[in-house]
Amino acid sequence: MDKPVSALRKLPSVDEVMRSAALAEAVTRYGRSAAVTAVRAVLGEAREQGAASADVTEVARSAMARLEAEAQPNLKPVFNLTGTVLHTNLGRALIAESAIEAATVAMRNAVALEFDLGGGRRGERDELVRDLLCELTGAEDATIVNNNAAAVLLVLNTFAKGREAIVSRGELIEIGGAFRMPEIMSRAGAKLHEIGTTNRTHKKDYVAALSDKIGLILKVHTSNYRIEGFTKEVSPRELAALAHEHSVPLVNDLGSGTLVDLTRFGLKHEPTVAEAVAEGADLVTFSGDKLLGGPQTGFIVGRKALIEKLNKNPMKRALRVDKIRLAMVEATLRLYRDPDRLAEKLPTYRLLARPIKEMEEVARRIVPVLQEKLGAGFAVKTTPCTSQVGSGALPVETLPSLAVAVTVSGRGGGRVLTSLSNALRKLPVPVVGRIEKDALLFDLRCLENVDGFLANLSTLNAPEAA
Ligand SMILES: *Cc1c(COP(=O)(O)O)cnc(C)c1O
Repeated sequence: MDKPVSALRKLPSVDEVMRSAALAEAVTRYGRSAAVTAVRAVLGEAREQGAASADVTEVARSAMARLEAEAQPNLKPVFNLTGTVLHTNLGRALIAESAIEAATVAMRNAVALEFDLGGGRRGERDELVRDLLCELTGAEDATIVNNNAAAVLLVLNTFAKGREAIVSRGELIEIGGAFRMPEIMSRAGAKLHEIGTTNRTHKKDYVAALSDKIGLILKVHTSNYRIEGFTKEVSPRELAALAHEHSVPLVNDLGSGTLVDLTRFGLKHEPTVAEAVAEGADLVTFSGDKLLGGPQTGFIVGRKALIEKLNKNPMKRALRVDKIRLAMVEATLRLYRDPDRLAEKLPTYRLLARPIKEMEEVARRIVPVLQEKLGAGFAVKTTPCTSQVGSGALPVETLPSLAVAVTVSGRGGGRVLTSLSNALRKLPVPVVGRIEKDALLFDLRCLENVDGFLANLSTLNAPEAA
């Protein structure tokens, strides 16, 4: 405000900049209105910085740079070299090609989402995947909601609102992103009735808690931690018997909820949804984008009478999924009809079952390029490492894997590695690794597009290492 008027006058006017040849391109690409806003912003900044004058072309160029930066999508693809295959912060499961195609068709067309083509009447969207879900899990009925947190919320609200839900203290989980079982309970209007201790819960604890105030018994798969040592929990089968004796439903929140035996892929056995159903749970809840390898969704499978009640809860309407995700879910579930080819068709299992040999091939190609790019101050080598499944599935199990490790010798190495890690995250396709014991590690398990990775490195501004 206290700048001399004469200095302000020397900045070009918005109109002058808009008329310049340099800005014509910006108008073509981004539209007149966005271009005007950008020019105003650049001139405003110049004024704030007290610039006495500015060249029209310079202002136009800055405005163009601003528009280009703003046009970058905020949701960017990244190279996930963290070693966590289902990384919640990086979007969890990659979608199978057949599911991507199905989603594209659903996006481009009107679809029979809630339309019974046989009778020409209104249908139900869950119908699209109900049979598949029942076939793959052995359940009588199934419903689908926004995610597994929503599934648990809907179940608690439907069967335990104004009543109590029994949960063992060993299973009062917190999942990342503020999903805490006790809080979900209270939001669902259910009263948490905790029983047992952190490490041991007995059948007699459940028996003592059962009363006519109980709406359901909840068993929660401790998906992101393990309690080991002096422990005791009541098996789902025993719990089912107990629940049925007292006419309350047993709900098993499986979390990841796999549909196949994971030992096929060299992983440890994780209870499958079909097993949970066979053990007598009345309802089983699980995620769509964890080990199942589909889009974000939550499934509830189980007894028909209970699923019908869930579908009648008005909350179901608020938690339902759209046509795009339903299309992906249907295509993803279909892949499970042929478990022998899952690792071929479903990216999650392709990555989890990826042979070390393939990663060695990847390493052979990228190590020399990275070494050359970083210079002699850095050492680039391959090293065995361990990947993890992620998203709380198989929390203590790791998969042998291969990483490229970058180290810097000498003092200040840690700082240099941090700078390098920052520079890699600023690439057109950000590269996300992890720092482990003085090394920047890039787990190669999830690196499939090697050409893209190498091309991406060409703009890397590596820090100096002495
Ligand atoms: C992951 C998980 C949830 C939440 O599932 P989202 O699909 O992330 O909403 C709930 N319960 C358990 C046991 C889980 O592992």
